[in-house]
Formats: sequence, C-alpha cells, structure tokens
Amino acid sequence: MRIEEYDAVVAGAGLSGLRTGLELSTKWNIAVISKVYPVRSHSGAAQGGINAALGNLEEGRDDTPKSHAFDTVKGSDYLADQNVVMFMCEEAPKIVVEFESMGAPFSRLESGLIAQRPFGGAGFPRTCYAGDRTGHTLLHTLYEQCIGNNVKFFDEYFLIDLIKVEEKIVGIITLDISKGELVIFRAPYVILATGGFGRIFKQSTNALINTGDGNGAAFRAGVPMQDCEFVQFHPTTLYGTNILMTEGARGEGGFLFNNIGERFMSKTAPKAMELAPRDIIARAIDIEILEGRGFENAYVHLDLTHLGEEKIKERLPGIRDISMYFAGVDPIDEPIPVQPGQHYSMGGIATKYKGDFGETDLSGLYVMGECSCLSVHGANRLGGNSLLETSVFGRAIGRNLLQRGLPELSSIEIVKKAEDNAISSIESLLKQWETNTGIVPVEIRDKMGETMNKNVGVFRKEEELKIAYEDLKNLQKSFLNVHVQTSDRKFNYGLVRTLELRNMLDIAEVSAYAALWRKESRGAHYRWDYTTRDDKKYLAHSLVYRSKEGLKLKTKPVILGIFEVKERVY
Ligand SMILES: Cc1cc2nc3c(=O)[nH]c(=O)nc-3n(C[C@H](O)[C@H](O)[C@H](O)COP(=O)(O)OP(=O)(O)OC[C@H]3O[C@@H](n4cnc5c(N)ncnc54)[C@H](O)[C@@H]3O)c2cc1C
Repeated sequence: MRIEEYDAVVAGAGLSGLRTGLELSTKWNIAVISKVYPVRSHSGAAQGGINAALGNLEEGRDDTPKSHAFDTVKGSDYLADQNVVMFMCEEAPKIVVEFESMGAPFSRLESGLIAQRPFGGAGFPRTCYAGDRTGHTLLHTLYEQCIGNNVKFFDEYFLIDLIKVEEKIVGIITLDISKGELVIFRAPYVILATGGFGRIFKQSTNALINTGDGNGAAFRAGVPMQDCEFVQFHPTTLYGTNILMTEGARGEGGFLFNNIGERFMSKTAPKAMELAPRDIIARAIDIEILEGRGFENAYVHLDLTHLGEEKIKERLPGIRDISMYFAGVDPIDEPIPVQPGQHYSMGGIATKYKGDFGETDLSGLYVMGECSCLSVHGANRLGGNSLLETSVFGRAIGRNLLQRGLPELSSIEIVKKAEDNAISSIESLLKQWETNTGIVPVEIRDKMGETMNKNVGVFRKEEELKIAYEDLKNLQKSFLNVHVQTSDRKFNYGLVRTLELRNMLDIAEVSAYAALWRKESRGAHYRWDYTTRDDKKYLAHSLVYRSKEGLKLKTKPVILGIFEVKERVY
C-alpha cells in the first residue's frame, strides 16, 4: 500500500483547488489531487466572467463592493450569510487585479482597463471577462502559477473517502486510476474542492465529471449537507443538448422572445428585463412554454441578431461556435433556441457556524468552491460570483491555514489503524461490486437523472417531490447490488463511474429531502403548493445528516445584520 505524507492535501484542481494549493505551497509541503488533468477541470467551461466592483465603465463609476454585496444578498433571496458576502465583494477587486498581474488576458476597454459587462441582478456592469472563455483563461493562468511554484500534482487520482480518527481528519483514500491501486494521502489538513454535482440531473450544463464526489465523501464521514434544495436552473441552455449560452449574451444586449414575438420578460421583471436574476428568468421561460407560447412546446428564442456581426464575433465567439455546431444556427442571422437547464448547486458541504472560511465540524477538514456551502449564494447565485468565490476563498482559506499552523499529529498507531480500516472497507466494497450480479450503474444513473429532472425541477410540489424521494430510496437499494463488469482495475472507468454514482445518489436524495422540507418559495426553490416566501419559518439554512433511521434535518441561522431583509423586485 502506497502512503503519501503531506502537510495538507487538496482534492480538486479547478479554480478553487488551484488557488488554495498555490497559497499553501508558499510554505507547506502540499499535494493537489484531481480525477482529471487539472486544466480539464470544469472551471474551464465558465464563459461569462468574474464580478468585481472596479467601476471601469462610465455607467459603473458609482459601483462599490457594498453595492456588489447588496445585489448578491438580494439575488440570494436573503438566504446568504451577509458577513461572508461582504468579505467576498471587498476582496473581489484585489483578486481580479491579482489575476491580471499573473498574466490573465482579460478583454480590454479602449482605455486599456479591464472590460466589464452587465450581468443578471447586478446594479452596475461589473463582470470582468475574457471574451466568452473566462474560466478557461483563469484556469490556465492559475495552473501555470502552480507549476511555477512547484505545486505537487497527482493527476487522475480519485478521492474515495475521508479518513478520520474520532472527529479529526487524518487523510484520504484514493484510487490511482491508471494503475488501479488504492493510495492513502496522510495529512492533518484536507481541503475538498471537488466541484458541483449537476449531473444528478439528466439535463445539465455541467461536465459529466460533476458528480459530487467530495460531497459524498464528507457526507459519509458525518458532515452535513447544507441548502441542497437550492438548485440553479440556467435560463438559457441550448435546446436539446443543454450546453450553456452564457448570461453574457444577454449582458451584451440579447433579447428573449416567445412564439408571438413578445419580449416576455416585460411581464415579470419590467425594469431588469433579460438581466433579472436567473431563477426569475428560468421560471418566466418555463411559464411561456407551459402556457403554449414556446416553440415546439419546448424552447424560446435568444435573439442576438441586432448586436451585429462584429460584436458577436468579438465578444461571444464561443457562443456562436456552439450554436452553429450543435444547433445549426448562426446567431448573427437567426435566434438561438434556448430552454432552462440545471446549472449550479447553491448548496453543498456545510461549514461551521461562525467558523473560519470553509471550516467544517470535522476538525482539519475544509471545503471550498462549488462542492461547499460557504453561503455566499443563498437561494440563488448571481452569475459571475462563482468564479469569484473560488479564488477569493481559495486564497483566504490558504492564508488562514498557514497562519493557524500545523496541528499536533494524532498518534501514528491510531492513524494506521484508521487507514487499515478504510482500506479493508473499500476493498470489500470493490470486491462486492465485482461479484454482484445485479444492475449496471448506468441504468441507475439514468433513472436518477430522470426523476430529478421530472420531479425536482424549476417548479416543485409535494406529490412530485415525494415521488423523487421514494425513487431515490429505491435506487439506493438497487445500488446495493450494483455490478462492475470488468475486474481489471487499471483505467477501469466502469469502477470510477460506480464510485461517482455512490456519491450522486446520496446528494440527489438529500436534495429531494430538503426540497420536501422547505414549504415555501425562495430563490431557485419554487413550490406550486407554497408560492410565497415565509421568513418566519424558513429564513434558515437546512442541514441534512444521515442517521441510522434515515435522513435527518436541522436548521442553522442565516447571518444577517448588514442589509435589511425585504421583498425582491426587479
Ligand atoms: C458551463 C458553465 C459556465 C459557467 N460560467 C460561469 C461564469 O461565467 N462565471 C462564474 O462565476 N461561474 C460560472 N460557472 C460556475 C463556475 O464555473 C463553477 O462553479 C466553478 O468553476 C467551480 O469551480 P471549482 O474549483 O469549485 O470546481 P471545478 O472546476 O469543477 O473543479 C473540481 C475539481 O475537483 C476534481 N475532482 C472532482 N471529484 C474528484 C474526485 N473524486 N477525486 C479527485 N478529484 C476530483 C476535478 O478533477 C476538478 O479538478 C459556470 C458553470 C458552468 C457549468
């Protein structure tokens, strides 16, 4: 058994993992593991941009971090923790300038300043961008910095489970995918930065690798999941494939039309129109479709034709390529067919109430980025705030840990015993999967995606949520007899997909369970049977745990105090 020893191990090499790793590597011996080559991480798919109140445009001169924080809290339907939001927005200009000094090639204004575009729910144009390939740009920039700073990468290593001694983390157990071997990383600090879990839904803008692996591992180790009922459905995904059509397209002036040529957002958000927050636009589109004003009962039009060829080619080249390749539509000449699709997970691994950023109740375990719930997005995330979250908190968590210093190590005998237990339980699980005769993972995965899509979508109600929850419990039972067809462990992607499915089923079940509990409509969680927000009962975070009797839910207070809780009007 190979054992690697480090001061800290970061699981995940997207923007969150890279920024944390970069900071920690300035003083410590650290490892970053990733199930894919780092620049294949999903952060690279981010299109529209990263928010910071730089005020580079004339119309943005009065922008401030406080306005940014206010927009974020209002956008979150007042469920975000306000102190954490304030920190993020104050750090935002510094983090963008840091990226610039690392060499990130942002798009520029004539003046030479970083270009900014309007985004949904934002009072000023504050989204900094690199064409419509911002994530790709930032990911490569950070990766180069990590290589330059000798960060030690373990590519194609799959995090399986956490190893803890009592309530203290001592390491992780991984699968080296190419060799098919189990490898232990022993460390007093583990930082999970494993990204989102959009693939619990069938239709999603997310890469197939977004399977909630860090969430599953943390959940099995007893760390609760927070606010998982809040799933963001992006309003404009390409009809059929659900590839993202960035909000930047509407930021650049794109319009939404129904089948009678109406800019229907005038009915729902007369001021903000196509730049209302995503939850509001996704619902407006689905209503148009449900009431018969969609095309083919399935989509509406995103029209960019009035922007002109030059602007589309300069600012939205990726969107044009995708529309042409995947829908046969050139947005210079024709509108793009779009429909809402799962996009982002506002919820994730719970962090400690009033702890350090990313700190969990399991001592030594920190979480960040899309797998976590630091509670900056509340019930609905504003576009451009996620890339920001990854980098601001990656740096902050790294700095906090370095300041905190390395903790006293647990006794080596006890650690070895915990490692042996972890290995033998994983070995017996893998053997069981190889010898089982039951269902193959893809069948369970399809059924999970279908029930999530159908019953835990943009609009929800009790009966459907109950169906989803029951379906998921039954799928969990089927999973006990899941069968991995090949027993050769080298590059065994059947095995990898099964490990992923184990995590997805847990998170899907949590998501349906928390959605059943929340009998109100707030942000992205809209219930036909409880159509209004109920601050008296539900201005609280949900925390879901697994107990012997099944799932259990507790609540955690929302940190308020900077902005008054009000109705959202756009
Ligand atoms: C199409 C699209 C466009 C977007 N555009 C924007 C935008 O313009 N602006 C914005 O702010 N946000 C945007 N977002 C959201 C944003 O991109 C993500 O929330 C953010 O990049 C997540 O970063 P992360 O580092 O947390 O996770 P990721 O970038 O997903 O990285 C996760 C990492 O964890 C690793 N990993 C996962 N599981 C395991 C495992 N079991 N073992 C080992 N490693 C593992 C992966 O290999 C990967 O390296 C977009 C999202 C999508 C889907």
